[in-house]
Amino acid sequence: MHVFAILPAAGLGTRMAGSQPKQFLALDGVPILIHSLRAFAAVERVTEIYVAVRKTEMERVQGQVAEYGFADRVRVVEGGDNRQESVAHALAALPAEQDDIVLVHDAVRPLIDAATIERTIDAVEQYGAAIVGMPAVDTIKQVERTAHGALVTSTIPREFVVLAQTPQGFRYGLLRCAFAEATADGFVGTDEASLVERAGQQVAVVPGSQVNLKITQPGDLELAEFYLHRRAR
Ligand code: C5P
Repeated sequence: MHVFAILPAAGLGTRMAGSQPKQFLALDGVPILIHSLRAFAAVERVTEIYVAVRKTEMERVQGQVAEYGFADRVRVVEGGDNRQESVAHALAALPAEQDDIVLVHDAVRPLIDAATIERTIDAVEQYGAAIVGMPAVDTIKQVERTAHGALVTSTIPREFVVLAQTPQGFRYGLLRCAFAEATADGFVGTDEASLVERAGQQVAVVPGSQVNLKITQPGDLELAEFYLHRRAR
């Protein structure tokens, strides 16, 4: 059985207002994408890593992959117009068997640790599908959007909520089927688990942490640097 990792990294990062997409910004002098790659490369059970990037970035990323010494385990493929399409492109390129495991991880979550990746693989072996999720500490409200903002319609008890992070892992055969169904139905989700859930499969949850943050908006980079230095101490 092989374990493949897919890192979608073809976003434009419009919420970050930077000169380049956030996955290429430097965190402690190293591109965010490379931090994410390092974490997966550190897990021996991960056979190969596929990175999906925009066509115009392919050469640059291939160069970085070689520069940081990952050329033998990393393949660069072309991404798509949304995250789901980027993952679909990488998925189509995998030389995987039905029972192999595929882990999908946001390239912009550079602080993922090897232990959480290992626990996700273990949970996929047991359940067929698993995501990293974090318990909610805030009270969660359902709202109705209005022209001026939002109005609360109900409170969702937080014991029934986890905030979905990545990696999200699946048996390859299951994920391919879920993607095929979503494409046939024109369904576009913001994560892979939502495609697998709608295909009727149970998805297990592996405990996540606030350290595994998704670099999304200004300020996140400083926070990630703080966590990185704390880890190095
Ligand atoms: O934009 P969002 O926060 O959903 O991005 C999550 C991850 O998906 C990022 O690593 C981003 O680069 C990636 N993505 C992608 N292809 C797109 C859009 C986003 O690979 N077209």
